[in-house]
Amino acid sequence: MKNNQVVLYIIVPCYNEEKVLPLSSGMFLDVLYEMINDRDVSDESRILFVDDGSKDNTWNIINELSDKDDHFIGIAQSRNRGHQNAVLAGLMESKDYCDITISIDCDGQDDINAMKEMVEAYKSGADVVYGVRKSRTTDTFFKRFTAQSFYHLLSWMGVEAIYNHADYRLLSSRVLEALSKFEEVNLFLRGMIPLVGFNSTCVYYDRNKRMAGETHYPFHKMMSLALDGITSLSIKPIRFITTMGFIVVLLSFVGIIWAIVGYFNHTTVQGWASTTCVMCFVAGIQLLSIGIIGEYIGKIYLEVKHRPRYIISDRVGIRDCKSLNDNK
Ligand code: UDP
Ligand code: MG
Repeated sequence: MKNNQVVLYIIVPCYNEEKVLPLSSGMFLDVLYEMINDRDVSDESRILFVDDGSKDNTWNIINELSDKDDHFIGIAQSRNRGHQNAVLAGLMESKDYCDITISIDCDGQDDINAMKEMVEAYKSGADVVYGVRKSRTTDTFFKRFTAQSFYHLLSWMGVEAIYNHADYRLLSSRVLEALSKFEEVNLFLRGMIPLVGFNSTCVYYDRNKRMAGETHYPFHKMMSLALDGITSLSIKPIRFITTMGFIVVLLSFVGIIWAIVGYFNHTTVQGWASTTCVMCFVAGIQLLSIGIIGEYIGKIYLEVKHRPRYIISDRVGIRDCKSLNDNK
């Protein structure tokens, strides 16, 4: 809190965004100045770009922006670690300097005007404000269908996640402090934040098309995020396997009785087809089950290693770097 005004840090993850950044950075700055001039937030507020190991000119652009205006600051990850880790790096980097953070993608898809409503909601007592998309009309049918199935699957698996909310959200510094105690390496922030608790509310907005450049989430990456989300927050799939195992065992008892009765009645005909079907089915279930259990073992392996979730290699525009070596 600076002179009773809220200090806001806007966290913007960027990966190979040289086409978008020159366009969207101006938008972010305009909205920040508007909020500063309206005295909604303090002049100490900043826009923090997190360069997620880009291979293009993104980091140079961030440096140029920071030279031009003090409100732009940046950190660079030592290599590409993925969107979730980039957002976390930004949140943890800013938590000691600000009262609230808002994380937002850098491609202009999320309506920046919702930020003002988010800050108002914070002032009315919310520690977490979720940005929720009103509709998905700008998405292709395929993206809409996969995204909606994903949210349904998540809730079926017992993961608490807000429907149609991605990573556009406001968090207060006490939520950030609590979040820093969650040490998992497999990150799925939108499923973790509800676990942190505190007062929360939603702000609804329309999602636009990307301003330029291409999405970094093709189908296989979306699938891997979905799998991470489920396996890092729910053990229901393993329970499901156990249940399936029971059912198959019960069914096989019925099969055995049927076979014995058939044997004594001398009706044990060829039976090749049914045997093959059962074998294939059981083998399929076993492989699937081993695969799912393997996913969890893989997760445990990564968690046990306790590797840092991000490593910051460069900073620009940040005054005093008290968390310089605190990269966990
Ligand atoms: N992003 C990142 N690291 C990555 C991939 C993406 O920091 O490895 C950033 C990207 O620059 C953007 C945000 O995450 O700001 C969302 O990515 P994108 O727009 O490609 O995803 P979509 O909106 O299509 O789901
Ligand atoms: Mg996008």
